[in-house]
Amino acid sequence: MFIFVTLKYNSRRVSEFSGYKPIIGVEIHIELKTKSKMFCQCSADYWGKLPNTQTCPVCLGMPGALPVPNKRAIEWTIMIAYALNCRINKEFYFERKHYFYPDLPKGYQITQRARPIGIGGWVEIFGKKFHIEEVHLEEDTGKLIHNDDLTLIDFNRAGVPLVEIVTKPDFEDSEMVKRFLEEIQTIVRYLGVSDADMEKGSMRIEPNISVAKVGERKLPSYKVEVKNINSFNFAKKAIDYEISRQIEILKKGRKPLQETRGFDEKRGITILQRVKEMAADYRYFPEPDIPPFKFTDNQIKEIVKNVPELPFQKVKKYVYIYGVDEKDAYIITRNKEVAEYFEKIIADNRITNTEERGLVRKLASMVVNKRVSLSLSPQDFVKAAIKKMERKKTDLASLRPVIDRILKENVDVIEKIKKGEKGKINYLIGLVMKEIKGQADPKVIREEIERMI
Ligand code: ZN
Ligand code: MN
Repeated sequence: MFIFVTLKYNSRRVSEFSGYKPIIGVEIHIELKTKSKMFCQCSADYWGKLPNTQTCPVCLGMPGALPVPNKRAIEWTIMIAYALNCRINKEFYFERKHYFYPDLPKGYQITQRARPIGIGGWVEIFGKKFHIEEVHLEEDTGKLIHNDDLTLIDFNRAGVPLVEIVTKPDFEDSEMVKRFLEEIQTIVRYLGVSDADMEKGSMRIEPNISVAKVGERKLPSYKVEVKNINSFNFAKKAIDYEISRQIEILKKGRKPLQETRGFDEKRGITILQRVKEMAADYRYFPEPDIPPFKFTDNQIKEIVKNVPELPFQKVKKYVYIYGVDEKDAYIITRNKEVAEYFEKIIADNRITNTEERGLVRKLASMVVNKRVSLSLSPQDFVKAAIKKMERKKTDLASLRPVIDRILKENVDVIEKIKKGEKGKINYLIGLVMKEIKGQADPKVIREEIERMI
């Protein structure tokens, strides 16, 4: 069993929601950082480029222009689906989703519905499983730029490969959602398929929220989708706001409406955008210009071979095999480069013995606290780290006279400690630390002081 003691969710108590229970799911859009767009050869790197300079007849939806699917984008989506423990559909196809909006030049978006690339996955975080409904591949839309009384359109983003991840409504509060989103971001970055940058819009999230009475068995018949969220903290705020807004409505005996709302980050509230269309309004049908795909088992195997060990697999390995503190393991694995560096420290120094688990634990903590520079080679890191640890030990002899003197100067404090004010010992530790400029382990000082008084 994998149970975190120090890294628990800050989960809300049911009582905090006064007899109601939030039910939250989330849609995540991830822009792939392929060289070219999803169905044409235009550059997919539109960030900071002059508007409408990276377009062609295909991504502008000119009559007669034919889409050619991006192989790499399909492979990367299969990798994402695999990393999220989805079942991979070896046979899938694209569909047209019709709606009218100025940022959609063709009048439809090429996406997947009946046969997405991945279905039914999960992500495990802190021993808890969150379920994925599906992972599918589609194309991004253009961008509308609103100026006072005029709206401009930039089609550079139109046709950039976009992966959509849809979760089941497994979340009960905003903190869980935030942890989950951070995990997805970390996984995608490990895969190297996207920057997944919320501020730049290469990762976008739309939580859907509804609230049920505690004890109610079936899911509520409505949900509210929230858009315009560009940071994890805003996601948390938007969800919290929605939960209390909906509880207020339910308390009055009414039912919240099925609608799409936008998050206003300045005011920290959500605002009605539109009442949601039914799925049938999109007139989905298979994309006639792109034949269906059929992969063999071997082809899928070749693709998913490129999925590296993922952050939470590393956390487990560090905790159970290396004996690293779970909090340190979590922090180290948030960044793939740091995790790889840490693993090199162990490999290059041939630290394999179980007796050395204590050492690995200390090294991990030094990586986290950057007590030794991470720009050193793995070998030099260990040398520097061991020197630091040894200095602490040998310094004990020279530490004693300092402690002795400080104790003599603070007889009154010692009296108080003896009378039961145990907290005062920290004051003495502080004085010693100041004297020796922090060059010792406070634990050792504490032990010495306790021994001496
Ligand atoms: Zn193009
Ligand atoms: Mn989508």
